[in-house]
Amino acid sequence: MNWGLHMGAINGKDYINRLDQLNNEIWYDGEKVEGFISQHPAFKGLIQSKAALYDLQHDPIIKDEMTFISPLSGEPIGLSYLQPKTKEDLLRRRKMIVHWAKYSGGLMGRSPDYLNTVLMSFASSVSYLKDKDKCFPSNLQSFYELARENDFSFTHTFISPQVNRSQMYLEDTSEPIAAKVIEKNEDGLVIKGARLLATQGGLTDEVLVFSAGKFLFNEDEAFAFSIPSNTRGIKFICRDSFLGGPSSFNHPLSSRFEEMDSIVVFDNVLVPWDRVFYYNAEIAGEFPIQSSFHPFAKHQVLIRQIVKTEFVLGIAELLIETINISEYQHVQEKMSEIIIGLETMKALLEKSENNAKLDEWGYMRPEIFPLQVAGIIFPKIYPRFTEIIQLIGASGMITLPSEKAFHSTIKSDLDLYLQGANKTAEERVKIFRLAWDLTMSSFGTRQTQYERYFFGDPIRLSSELYKKYPKKEYTKIISDFLSLKKED
Ligand SMILES: Cc1cc2nc3c(=O)[nH]c(=O)nc-3n(C[C@H](O)[C@H](O)[C@H](O)COP(=O)(O)OP(=O)(O)OC[C@H]3O[C@@H](n4cnc5c(N)ncnc54)[C@H](O)[C@@H]3O)c2cc1C
Repeated sequence: MNWGLHMGAINGKDYINRLDQLNNEIWYDGEKVEGFISQHPAFKGLIQSKAALYDLQHDPIIKDEMTFISPLSGEPIGLSYLQPKTKEDLLRRRKMIVHWAKYSGGLMGRSPDYLNTVLMSFASSVSYLKDKDKCFPSNLQSFYELARENDFSFTHTFISPQVNRSQMYLEDTSEPIAAKVIEKNEDGLVIKGARLLATQGGLTDEVLVFSAGKFLFNEDEAFAFSIPSNTRGIKFICRDSFLGGPSSFNHPLSSRFEEMDSIVVFDNVLVPWDRVFYYNAEIAGEFPIQSSFHPFAKHQVLIRQIVKTEFVLGIAELLIETINISEYQHVQEKMSEIIIGLETMKALLEKSENNAKLDEWGYMRPEIFPLQVAGIIFPKIYPRFTEIIQLIGASGMITLPSEKAFHSTIKSDLDLYLQGANKTAEERVKIFRLAWDLTMSSFGTRQTQYERYFFGDPIRLSSELYKKYPKKEYTKIISDFLSLKKED
């Protein structure tokens, strides 16, 4: 494929055509996927939804809110690649994220803006890598520009296989398990081993690989690069599909937004030098923390999670209206929990944007603490939201005849016995099916697990917040109050 071309912001057709041509090596249910991936029943719904997102970049009503003008080509390019330099830029980014998130009720965690933002955030801190050993900032900069100008889509793998998570563990198997550099030659790095967990793995142009964590004794695992998904030797091994079926009546969410997750296997994969961003244990530990990765990526995540919470609130209230249970105090209290979550997340977003500051490289970073707080709260409140929906819906979450049943001779029974307080039986079942697919289907339970671990392990994220949060001024209040000896 000729990546020298400047495609600008792509539409849905461009995305699908490009993906079908890649012929990525995807393994599903023990078989290698053959033919156009966009036609495969397990992936079709998601690919169509992603195409619809890309089409929004060309929607005459919002295209100016979805794109900006390329400094290189003068053509419109995707706004998720915009490096914010002002607070207005942050607000422009927010609008774009909301447009894309609303399409799926925030259920597509890896809508293209997520990883475009991640790449943009790393590129915005490229100067950090300057003059450092085994760091190639110009590769990162030119790759960012290439991706931005061609509107690449990405999957990513940041973690190693879950073999042994003891802090003392050091892999010493004869064959690498966690992806490692097994050779350096004049063409690039040769990688062997596996990485987790690539949501939409195989369904994107590129695989973005960053190492997360500390690499005291294993520099061969400390790297960052991006390569095309069809690079020789890359395999995507999918989990079982959580698609309930193609009917949007029966499976309103999984039929459209089942993103799929995969293990990525690197079987002696050559990563050409011009795609290597760094290969250095110290930098692999530092860069994700010192760069604007956390503020920019968490800003995108929080906006999507707010849209998702609005979606949850809407479903919960419709359940209540449908069976007329709003008079009960415990129902009101449960709804207030969702409202409190929503308002808290919105306030944290506002604070992070209001207190945004230019970083040392001239980019406008939202304040990190409110974003960190939101990132720790959501994995706790989202599972509770799903529980609230189940408690409100009760048996309605189970009484769910199919679309076919409503077109059979049994329909008159269904119409009578499944009607709601102010809804026909068909409407009532539609609403409850949506609630079920969000919280109880295999798709729904994955959503809960997804939000728990979306941005890493919340336990370790809490430790980071505790360690980084300035606490001195508060201990000083107490020291003064007790007239303790002055601390330095
Ligand atoms: C649905 C889903 C989609 C995902 N999509 C992606 C993706 O697209 N790309 C990607 O890169 N990743 C993805 N992930 C992976 C995600 O980033 C990880 O789940 C997350 O970082 C936690 O790592 P882990 O799953 O390996 O948990 P582990 O690290 O194995 O943790 C297991 C348990 O041990 C505890 N534990 C382990 N080590 C420590 C420690 N040092 N200190 C304290 N407690 C510890 C944890 O708290 C947890 O309870 C996805 C995960 C899910 C569930």
